Amino acid sequence: MTVTVAIVGRPNVGKSTLFNRLVGRKIALVDDTPGVTRDRREAEGRIADLRFKVLDTAGYEDKTDGSLEDRMRQQTEIAIRDADVILFMIDARAGVMPLDERFAQVLRRAGKDVHLIANKAEGKAADPGLLEAYNLGFGEPVALSAEHGLGLSDLHAIVSKAVDAAAAKAEARAPSLDVMPEVDVDLPEDDGSTEDGPVKRWDPKRYLNVAIIGRPNAGKSTLINRMVGEDRLLTGPEAGITRDSILVPWEYEGRIINLVDTAGMRRKARIEQKLEKLAVSDSLRSIQYAEVVVLLLDAQIPFEKQDLTLADLVEREGRALVIAVNKWDTIEDKNAKLAELREQCERYLPQLKGIPLVTISGLQGRNIDKLMQAVFAIERKWNSHVSTARLNRWLSGMTESHPPPAVSGRRLKLRYMTQAKIRPPSFILFASRPEAVPNAYQRYLVNGLRDAFDMPGTPIRLWLRGGK
Ligand code: GDP
Ligand code: GDP
Repeated sequence: MTVTVAIVGRPNVGKSTLFNRLVGRKIALVDDTPGVTRDRREAEGRIADLRFKVLDTAGYEDKTDGSLEDRMRQQTEIAIRDADVILFMIDARAGVMPLDERFAQVLRRAGKDVHLIANKAEGKAADPGLLEAYNLGFGEPVALSAEHGLGLSDLHAIVSKAVDAAAAKAEARAPSLDVMPEVDVDLPEDDGSTEDGPVKRWDPKRYLNVAIIGRPNAGKSTLINRMVGEDRLLTGPEAGITRDSILVPWEYEGRIINLVDTAGMRRKARIEQKLEKLAVSDSLRSIQYAEVVVLLLDAQIPFEKQDLTLADLVEREGRALVIAVNKWDTIEDKNAKLAELREQCERYLPQLKGIPLVTISGLQGRNIDKLMQAVFAIERKWNSHVSTARLNRWLSGMTESHPPPAVSGRRLKLRYMTQAKIRPPSFILFASRPEAVPNAYQRYLVNGLRDAFDMPGTPIRLWLRGGK
């Protein structure tokens, strides 16, 4: 499965530098050779084990005719038409320029898989540009230095996710065209399509990957079946049941939800491994596919060791988590059970304080709406950005009511805080001696953030830096 990657952006942000790095050799630059036009617009790129096609949209800038506007349009049209993944590059040192914003407008309408790449991010000079980049509305920017080869592992993650998604989509489509809705069916009429005709597209903002994980027999397959409303996922005790897809598209309240089916992965893998280990590695893959993870517990046997391992994995991977207690139909005294579950949750998962617990029955289809509301709510929190002004007001309140301890006789100064990224919310705290801030105090701040900005169930990262 070859995916095509396009690098798009205004002149001088570093597109050719990245192109050359991915392609691994210097493509002859021809602008100093009159009469020779650059015809190579596509080459094989690689990052470690990954192979893919790269489109060199920078080539179109060599044309001396046409306005910048024209060239920009050409570039983006080509990328939108031919690429599976668009890397939208800006120069983090220069910050966001008006022309970047114009690109952003066009790309937002394209509805493709667009990733914002903040290049020239080596060193501190790029920090303000990275923060500014959020305003372009593509979420967390990927910090890159094309020249120094930094940040390539993030590009690797982006491309390999696209490769997996393309493979899963192709697989899923082949055997079951009749039940698989095409994802582009309900697009708005005015989608900014080019004169080349309508381009297949969907709005990525309405596109959400949700993994359903849990121990074997927690009821994952039954729940997914119930959600998509068909018996396309075969459930049952028989071994060796095959299934075509691990991404099950489902339309819910006008959004495309890709349910990532962990049980399906295992059946596909067909490897002999110890069951528990296998379940965990399937789950890890599912988690990495997803933005929001639903951890399914069996109401009869909740909070087993493996459940806690899975919750921990979600937290470590920085995904948003919802806990669903399944088989609620089997519980007699529901009030007592719920109180007990809440108490267990606080005790076993203190790192996820206040996480929503939704009680459901996949078998009877009960409370699936409530579950989805919890999924959407946590997704919003996971994407939330707190302004620097609010953060610092909050920080001074926190340090007033509970000052940081003096360490070896010297007062510890917490100077300033800013949110560096979302998904998950990650904060930088500038301190006089970052290494001296005790863990307990860091926990106090993280829990405080979670309360103050209402982010239960969302992992929160806190990074300490010196200076400023
Ligand atoms: P393009 O017009 O977008 O293709 O940009 P180029 O690849 O030609 O790069 C424009 C300029 O930025 C060149 O001088 C590059 O050496 C420089 N450049 C590219 N990547 C980086 C980087 O990661 N860091 C820094 N500091 N400079 C870079
Ligand atoms: P998976 O291994 O997590 O995919 O679990 P399955 O979906 O195959 O379900 C395991 C067993 O639990 C099956 O016998 C299901 O019928 C049963 N089950 C699943 N959901 C529920 C539920 O909400 N209530 C009850 N009573 N049984 C359920």
